[in-house]
Amino acid sequence: MRCPTCEERDTRVVDSRDLDEAATIRRRRECVSCGARFTTYERMEAARLVVVKRDGTRQEFDRDKLAAGIRKALTRRPVSEGAADRAADEIEAILRAAGATEVESSRIGELAMEQLRALDQIAYIRFASVYQSFEDLETLKREVDSLYAEREPAMEPRRP
Ligand SMILES: [Zn+2]
Repeated sequence: MRCPTCEERDTRVVDSRDLDEAATIRRRRECVSCGARFTTYERMEAARLVVVKRDGTRQEFDRDKLAAGIRKALTRRPVSEGAADRAADEIEAILRAAGATEVESSRIGELAMEQLRALDQIAYIRFASVYQSFEDLETLKREVDSLYAEREPAMEPRRP
């Protein structure tokens, strides 16, 4: 691990802690030569997870691509920074916990929609309309109606 400032190879660990229930270890390092401090992350190499697309082609599960898709749906929505990454991590955790080495892309789409539904309803509709391609306006309306029905009473528009 080279120092990002001076490229010195000799660094020492000044702090080390577990993240995400110890799946990741974060280390603060200090360059022995110039004293610059930087952070490294160490993760267990994950087992292979292959996505089977609708047309039958297979590709390696790409968590970053999934996060990008979720982030796109959340564009300009009032959610915290990092929400898309957390959602993608959550989906990956669910898939890995299931223990299968292959997963249908439609399953990942469903999980993404579940995450978005809980995060932001507009983002959910955005994602679902692209992903699920609502057959017609009637299907879309039913989905929107079901979202309204689930809303907290406090969020209901005040009636005159
Ligand atoms: Zn250095």
